[in-house]
Amino acid sequence: MTRSTFSSHVEVYGKSVQALVNAMEFLKLKAQRVLATHGIEQLEPEKWYPMPRVIASFEDILEQVGPHTTRAIGRAVPKNAVFPPGIDSFGLSMNSLDQAYRMNHRGTGDIGSYRYQPEGDHNARMVCDNPYPCEFDQGIMEALYDRFPPRNSIRLRIDHDPSGCREKGARSCTYYLKW
Ligand SMILES: [Zn+2]
Repeated sequence: MTRSTFSSHVEVYGKSVQALVNAMEFLKLKAQRVLATHGIEQLEPEKWYPMPRVIASFEDILEQVGPHTTRAIGRAVPKNAVFPPGIDSFGLSMNSLDQAYRMNHRGTGDIGSYRYQPEGDHNARMVCDNPYPCEFDQGIMEALYDRFPPRNSIRLRIDHDPSGCREKGARSCTYYLKW
């Protein structure tokens, strides 16, 4: 599945589009302009917006800013997110990512997913086949690590499985995580 074939019947929650725009900080105005060219003029938190337009806007912006900034934007997104009371560790937050993703999208159609598979106390595998950029998802994982620092760990290492990447047309990206 490529990004362009994702269902046009899915909508993204305004709050989560706003979180993306806010994460862009100094690029905020640019982001708002690009959204407007894709028909999203007034961003309202309680409204829902067509997913293909959000993804297309996002791709336009990220093409201009490059992979480093894309990752930084991913890192900024979970910073202000509200987590349910039970989510208080890195593993649980990673495990809840898919549910959070689903809560912020509605409608019928395939939106892909975040599949988290723990493999030990300090390692796991994450498979992403959602239409968001690879670097963005890596930034999100780094942000969750920073927000819920695991004990006896100094950093999160992310190794991208070389077999394929969404940025090069693959259906999914697989990441091996060690912390
Ligand atoms: Zn990738």
